[in-house]
Amino acid sequence: MDCIFCKIVSGEIPSVKVYEDDIVLAFLDINPLNDGHLLIIPKAHAATIHDVAEADFLAVMSATHKLAAAVKKALNPEGLNLLQLNGKVAGQMVPHLHVHIVPRWSGDGLTVASWELVAGDLEKIKSVAGKIQAEIV
Ligand code: AMP
Ligand code: ZN
Repeated sequence: MDCIFCKIVSGEIPSVKVYEDDIVLAFLDINPLNDGHLLIIPKAHAATIHDVAEADFLAVMSATHKLAAAVKKALNPEGLNLLQLNGKVAGQMVPHLHVHIVPRWSGDGLTVASWELVAGDLEKIKSVAGKIQAEIV
């Protein structure tokens, strides 16, 4: 499989690893937005949240929780962003599911997750909620 993160899992491509278990691998992002920018991935290939097995996704999130605590202790960030992008339109560049941990400090100049608030139409919000609820299994 021609997947850069699968090649990191197999060791074909080097990475700076910080955590590994049977299901999950975590390593430093090679283009860090800040010190301590981590990527947490399932070892089994899955492109997006729609492809990953629920158990693998839960293992990735559990490792993310553990690693967020380690980053806080090690680097003492004032906050952190968790990012998980699905699909090109959402900005996903590597099609192997991953969670980013991006430690944040005031004045770091990053514009991650800063959008302008514009009030929505309540009837439309309710109608969209109904469509989603109808599909929950
Ligand atoms: P995205 O798919 O947009 O969520 O982001 C993919 C991330 O993978 C980017 O932040 C890249 O810097 C990172 N990345 C790409 N190749 C490597 C690599 N070989 N080692 C570590 N990080 C990588
Ligand atoms: Zn892969």
